Amino acid sequence: MRFPTRRLRRLRKTEKMRSMIRETTLLPSDLVCPVLVQEGIDERVTVKSMPGIQRLPLSDVTGEVESIKGAGIPAIMLFGVPSSKDDAGSSAFDRDGIVQRAVSEVRQAFGDDIVIMSDVCMCQYTSSGHCGIVRDGPGRGGGGSPAIDNDPSLEVLAKIAVSQAESGVDVVSPSAMMDGQVSAIRTALDDSGFSDVLIMPHSAKHRSVFYSPFRDAAECAPQFGDRSTYQMPYTNAREAMQEIESDVEEGADIVMIKPALAYLDLVAEARRRLDLPVAAFSVSGEYALVRAAAAAGYVDGAQIALEMLHSIKRAGADIIVTYFAKDVAGSLLAE
Ligand SMILES: [Zn+2]
Repeated sequence: MRFPTRRLRRLRKTEKMRSMIRETTLLPSDLVCPVLVQEGIDERVTVKSMPGIQRLPLSDVTGEVESIKGAGIPAIMLFGVPSSKDDAGSSAFDRDGIVQRAVSEVRQAFGDDIVIMSDVCMCQYTSSGHCGIVRDGPGRGGGGSPAIDNDPSLEVLAKIAVSQAESGVDVVSPSAMMDGQVSAIRTALDDSGFSDVLIMPHSAKHRSVFYSPFRDAAECAPQFGDRSTYQMPYTNAREAMQEIESDVEEGADIVMIKPALAYLDLVAEARRRLDLPVAAFSVSGEYALVRAAAAAGYVDGAQIALEMLHSIKRAGADIIVTYFAKDVAGSLLAE
């Protein structure tokens, strides 16, 4: 019997040969590091469900950014935990809000030497814990899902984005999954003189249990019902492409898919369809599962994080938001 002429193992013969044919390279410059800043605390608070992740007092933010920059990571994404919540989510667009203050401190300390991204949503700031304005309690969405008033919510999201732009943010990242949020924010930013602020929406953001640890991190769990009337069902890939394409039409500069690991098909499909940068958000649950398994001794946490992040890059993501950013950046530089 004739032995196969094609022997792919020849390509894997030596370390040098393997490095020459490597198709995917992950760099620290591909990563965005989330930063959680909490109003009204003096010391860091450990997030129980996300070992290694802490909520920071404002006074610690510039120091944290210094270490992120030192790891070669070019960007942060700020999430705020306010000390007060109300029905309108008004602490989200307060000029002295926790995110606004953090943005301006980081900008003052580092100038253009760091890309500052910020989450634009209402759920950390509303007493309901929902991402938009709740009309009147539980609605018809099923599962006690409330009726969210889409268009009035757009006005609030636009106000949040403008207030963050005033503080000096580079990129606003609306995550509310309200229809029309990108165009509402683009118009408001342009009208306020912020035509150079980018929008990186959570374009296809799925209703996912992978977010559970973050709700502990940011105290933003819905107080009633769920988010199934606005976040995407994880069963629908074509609908996800429509969400992404409508964000492009509305003026998104970068589109994002969230979560990442269980949605690599969508990352690959978005990459195939679009010439815009594609981002993927590797969420809290992706981080927490690895941490828990590593703590139990079931997997090598560092190695599995690298494998996951490379798979997201390989699927087509240009930008990866990940809680592993600081942990992996050092080993990427050494590669
Ligand atoms: Zn939200």
